[in-house]
Amino acid sequence: MPDSNRRNLSILNQTYEKLNAKYEQEKIQNHTEISFVKWVSEKLLLTIEQEDYITRFYAPYLYTEAIHDNHVILRDEKLGKLVEVRFQGKEMTCSEDDECCSHIHFVFALPELIGFFNRHRFLKKPKDS
Ligand SMILES: [Zn+2]
Repeated sequence: MPDSNRRNLSILNQTYEKLNAKYEQEKIQNHTEISFVKWVSEKLLLTIEQEDYITRFYAPYLYTEAIHDNHVILRDEKLGKLVEVRFQGKEMTCSEDDECCSHIHFVFALPELIGFFNRHRFLKKPKDS
């Protein structure tokens, strides 16, 4: 009999394998017995909460217009213009500000770019933070 508290979801094998490897790693590190389904559900909710925090509370005046290989275009409603955040080496620079700014922090926190930062080893925080 179907559980009324659950829905089935099909995911790509590659995604499942990555999730399961991470789950097994965290299960050992954290000495937890949480189920895989509950772990994945919590990860998804955390991702949504992170995105909501960034877009609603941290910088509700910033919007992602485009993400490219070496830069991101943001629309800044406070400034009333587009702002470009460039990836140079392992650091980010902003077309509007000489120092680390809300644009760089916003881009650094975008869930869509976490994989990019991991692949390019963006280990450094944005300049001056
Ligand atoms: Zn800026």
